Amino acid sequence: MYERPVVVPVPPVSHVELNDMWHIPALGFGVWQIENDKVGGAVRTAIEAGYRLIDTAQGYDNEAGVGKAITESGVPRGELFLTTKLRTKSMGYDEALAGIQESLEALQVDYLDLFLIHWPTPARNNYVDTWRAFVEAQKEGLVRSIGVSNFLPEHIDRLIEATGIIPAVNQLELHPYYQQRDVREYHQRMGIQIESYSPLGHGEVLDDPVMREIADKHSVSPAQVILRWHLQEGLVVIPKSATPERIRANLDVFGFELSEADMERIAGLDDPEGGRTSSDPATFNDLY
Ligand code: NDP
Repeated sequence: MYERPVVVPVPPVSHVELNDMWHIPALGFGVWQIENDKVGGAVRTAIEAGYRLIDTAQGYDNEAGVGKAITESGVPRGELFLTTKLRTKSMGYDEALAGIQESLEALQVDYLDLFLIHWPTPARNNYVDTWRAFVEAQKEGLVRSIGVSNFLPEHIDRLIEATGIIPAVNQLELHPYYQQRDVREYHQRMGIQIESYSPLGHGEVLDDPVMREIADKHSVSPAQVILRWHLQEGLVVIPKSATPERIRANLDVFGFELSEADMERIAGLDDPEGGRTSSDPATFNDLY
């Protein structure tokens, strides 16, 4: 018979208030590229370590495994913050409403904390209709907060113009090699919270000598320095790891502080032209 894991006290993960008054944990657990039959173990480790935000997507093909793990975790639903994203194949008004139901079912929950349009896929010109469905689902109480991912300011402007509803969150690639300073100014002005995806640069920033030096100075790891940098920049951050020790260590970033000089050195690593590891949202139109 399945035994419930011991739930340890939640470490002091701070929260950020969104523009719709809901609160999101400042640090969560991403599960991209963890297969459905393995994701349960990773999510269990994360929840036992104290993570309460889990970030998945229909396109990751692991919602069922995530759902099973959170159901079995013993943590009350109200203490978890569950994010998923609509796959690009399911965009459009009716398709998006059906897509929400599919995610609720796969995740075994009756509401989502945050539902995101995964990519704007601008050539298909259906993200505004999709957004109307998100607004409707929020009114029906199926989702608490609605947001977008990989949206450029011009895409967000169209959503707001059409519906008057400002996304609560935009989940963007953001890390020390790709700091998106220009785009961040727009989000701050609009009251949209940025959630940093691939916050470790998909692992690429970890070996940077500047990170190593700052990490040594604080007796922490480069990953911890990078995650702490996101938090001090006011970003919500969702690192992924499939390694139990790393899952735990990545949450242990609330007990030290980077100095202004550290922050300035990291600011100097920005590479707006070459730092991106994922696709360009202006031209990505794949269906998956
Ligand atoms: P991350 O920047 O989180 O890096 C993950 C990599 O870093 C893995 O190879 C992992 O290895 C390694 N790693 C993690 N922690 C440590 C550590 N402490 N020490 C050394 N290595 C470490 O990359 P992701 O691209 O996975 O992004 C995180 C999350 O963001 C995703 O899981 C997903 O939820 C979201 N995302 C969203 C996208 C979108 O379009 N909206 C696109 C991409 C990501 P290992 O697993 O072997 O431990």
